[in-house]
Amino acid sequence: VESPTARDVDPAQILRNVRPKLLIDGDFVDAASGKTFPVLDPRTEDVVAQVAEADAADVDRAVGAARRAFDSGPWRKMSGRQRGKVMARMADLLEQRAEEFARIETLDNGKPLAESRAFDVTAVVSHFRYFAGWADKISGKTLQTNGNMFAYTLHEAIGVAGQIIPWNYPLLMLAWKVAPALACGCTVVLKVAEQTPMSALLFGELALEAGLPPGVLNILPGYGPTAGAALASHPGVDKVSFTGSTEVGREVMRAAAGGIKHVSLELGGKSAAIICPDVDLESVVDDTHMALFYNHGQNCCAGSRTYVHESLYDEFVERAVERAQRATVGDPFGDAQIGPLVDSAQFEKVLGYMKAGKAQGAVLRCGGGRAGPKGYYVEPTVFSDVRDEMSIAQEEIFGPVQSIMKWSSVEEVLDRANANPYGLAAGVWTKDLDMANRLSRGLRAGTVWVNCYNYFDDAVPFGGYKMSGFGRDLSEYALNNYMEVKAVVTPLEDPAW
Ligand code: ADP
Repeated sequence: VESPTARDVDPAQILRNVRPKLLIDGDFVDAASGKTFPVLDPRTEDVVAQVAEADAADVDRAVGAARRAFDSGPWRKMSGRQRGKVMARMADLLEQRAEEFARIETLDNGKPLAESRAFDVTAVVSHFRYFAGWADKISGKTLQTNGNMFAYTLHEAIGVAGQIIPWNYPLLMLAWKVAPALACGCTVVLKVAEQTPMSALLFGELALEAGLPPGVLNILPGYGPTAGAALASHPGVDKVSFTGSTEVGREVMRAAAGGIKHVSLELGGKSAAIICPDVDLESVVDDTHMALFYNHGQNCCAGSRTYVHESLYDEFVERAVERAQRATVGDPFGDAQIGPLVDSAQFEKVLGYMKAGKAQGAVLRCGGGRAGPKGYYVEPTVFSDVRDEMSIAQEEIFGPVQSIMKWSSVEEVLDRANANPYGLAAGVWTKDLDMANRLSRGLRAGTVWVNCYNYFDDAVPFGGYKMSGFGRDLSEYALNNYMEVKAVVTPLEDPAW
């Protein structure tokens, strides 16, 4: 690990403007219980803040505020254009303070500062602008009926959205949930991840400054089984939107079932990256490296099953290892490409998979253990000769561990790619158009990247097939998560047509 702690980084300074409380009804308040929980710096394992810990009583207060703001507050009754203006101001204010947010994100999560700046914060600004633009373009349809009737649809806000997000992209996950909900006129109670609550709290303050009425966006730091579960089952919540593990997604769906709430889930993945025989190895090695190692592998769409055609296999493995060894591990405030994992649970889990890979007979080509004496740093790791039945090829690792498999026929690789229960994303590398079409049609996944990976765009939907969930984030499709369709029917005096 290079430069374990960059010298100019002072956590207290970075967090100086964050109010470590709950945001309910426009006020930053303590938890009803008075409890707080510690937030750690993943580089040092030191506690950098104590944050108010929401539980069921606070969820109840927050849902009450969101309910009032929806039922009688100004938000839903404002025109879409007015809502869009407030959202655009939120984007502007965030952009003005981008550097502060990027540093908070890196401190909380451990991702390289360069990526927090170039990707996370930039994407959030863009996302709020994009959905600000949708706010005044949400309309229903006029329908042709079989009788002498006038019928049309209204696309109405669903109501109060209860949203639960993970820690891997703290602010971006907030944006993916909150922006389309606000554009539709919903009000929100957001339960942020316990590992990474800080950037969302500062964002909540900006939202108020931008003119978002009190109660429209309520933000609760707290734990899953308490605050999260209470939110997913609360009778005042109309829609539950969750991003996280498949295991917890199932719990959330169960909790929401009591009230027959609308649910959308963006869950885990074990995405296949398929390399065909006709590719340019140099660039594909790099693409597939980034497909897995970006954000330290803490990516639901990480390309974590690398399927290489047998004709290239040996050379690919050699180059992939060389590429992984070039990835520098170290302080995310410095130049390193790989910072610490987010917390000790994640650290232990990833080390466990490294052990399992070795025990199950995969060939460890590089890495395989922790990096440095403290902090949640692990080595970029590559296994070759991985078989589909090994746990490193089956289960979501959520860490910098690349598993490389060999394939020989298209039917075979397609079957193997689809045999996994997840279906979030996939990557295909080939210059052969027929092959690209065949694989992209055949793969059971919500996104197929062809000759690229991890390309995200506000206008392109993202979400899962199979156990990776349902509903789509991003794009026009995300509006469907937050709208009800109402049919209005009335007789006409004269035949319409
Ligand atoms: P990850 O594996 O990315 O940590 P989790 O699925 O464990 O993902 O957590 C994602 C989010 O779900 C977090 O905000 C977490 O607090 C929350 N969560 C965890 N358990 C529950 C639960 N039983 N009910 C509702 N939310 C939960």
